[in-house]
Amino acid sequence: MSLHSVDTALGTRRTDLRRILDRALARGRPTREEAYALIHAEGGDLAALMAGAAALRDAHHGRVVSYSRNVFVPLTNLCRDKCAYCTFARPPTDPRARTLTPDEVLAIAQAGQAQGCKEALFSLGDRPEQVHARAREDLRRLGYPSTLAYLRDMCRLVVEETGLLPHANPGVLTPEELAELRPVTASMGIMLESVSERLLEPGQAHFGCPDKVPAARLAMMEAAGRLAIPFTTGILIGIGETREERVDSLFAIAELHQRYGHIQEVIVQNFRAKPDIRFRDRPEPSVFEMLRTLAVARLILGGAMHIQAPPNLTPGAYGLYLLAGIDDWGGVSPVTLDRINPEAPWPKLAELRQVTQEAGHTLVERLAIYPEYITPQHVAPEMWTRVKRQAQALAAPRPVAHPAHPVGSHSIGERP
Ligand code: SF4
Repeated sequence: MSLHSVDTALGTRRTDLRRILDRALARGRPTREEAYALIHAEGGDLAALMAGAAALRDAHHGRVVSYSRNVFVPLTNLCRDKCAYCTFARPPTDPRARTLTPDEVLAIAQAGQAQGCKEALFSLGDRPEQVHARAREDLRRLGYPSTLAYLRDMCRLVVEETGLLPHANPGVLTPEELAELRPVTASMGIMLESVSERLLEPGQAHFGCPDKVPAARLAMMEAAGRLAIPFTTGILIGIGETREERVDSLFAIAELHQRYGHIQEVIVQNFRAKPDIRFRDRPEPSVFEMLRTLAVARLILGGAMHIQAPPNLTPGAYGLYLLAGIDDWGGVSPVTLDRINPEAPWPKLAELRQVTQEAGHTLVERLAIYPEYITPQHVAPEMWTRVKRQAQALAAPRPVAHPAHPVGSHSIGERP
């Protein structure tokens, strides 16, 4: 048997799915029903799905793949939630439970500054003072009424002393709290993780987690949209959700972005089992599961969206994600560990560059805020000069999205 063409080869199995894919690509977006079908793609169908997603990515972003050189600032690892997959949060009795002092925060940022980092990624547990006396005591000693008030001052300290641009991941916030953080951050984020309310039930990933109620997270994302905050979100796969629920989560993100144009990137993150978590015996999603999810995410979110998968969570195979339509590796630190997944070291930048090149792409550095969002609408006046300064400091700024398809129909602008 001879191989007539790649298309023939890919089309020899499950032609129904190929037709669905062709229809979705011709229309520009799949319907929800089409996406439900596509996310089950296997074999040649999966290869075709990935090729379609990669072509859509190329049409908007070319062959440029970005990363942010950052430091990770684990402001406090106390948290009021109990996610079944989390190793970041520590109970107050754990000797590793801690809230960083301002000196420690500044030391991390200065170490990053010395290594050319431009982003300070602030991660912290959700409102720990509401349930832990230890958190209230830490805050009292530091002189703050709340974790968020402390976060705001630490963001300000870092940006004023080092110029690093804070990206804050503080959990669910009210619109007022978002507005208070805006003048000291370049961008913010919250992982939607999943819209599945099943995951809140006993035995599920989000049981006992008031901040993981999907409606609360979507409400915060919407409030961020109203405030035009450049926003990062994403889904976590392999935590008990179905493939269809993954599609629903991606559609929820796409719909918010269509309304507000503020979602600057979407992360697809794979669950990793660890010995000290409730889900220690759960199977991890395979590389194929990531590939079909990434490709469907690209189709649902469109070519202009920035889609990211963390390289350190799939050592040895992460380069394949470039074949499924991603265009970003997220934060990569030459200084600090990934404290959310401390067992998974970051790939060295040289390795990341080589893997990216082997897949036919060019690695470029970006800021915590993507170029499309460096506009007076999206950057707080207090941050404008600092953001522009850091943008100029990048030796090779990332090209903006294809001019015919600007993200959220915004363009880079000058603040008068
Ligand atoms: S994943 Fe986040 S919200 Fe859940 S327990 Fe860990 S720190 Fe808290």
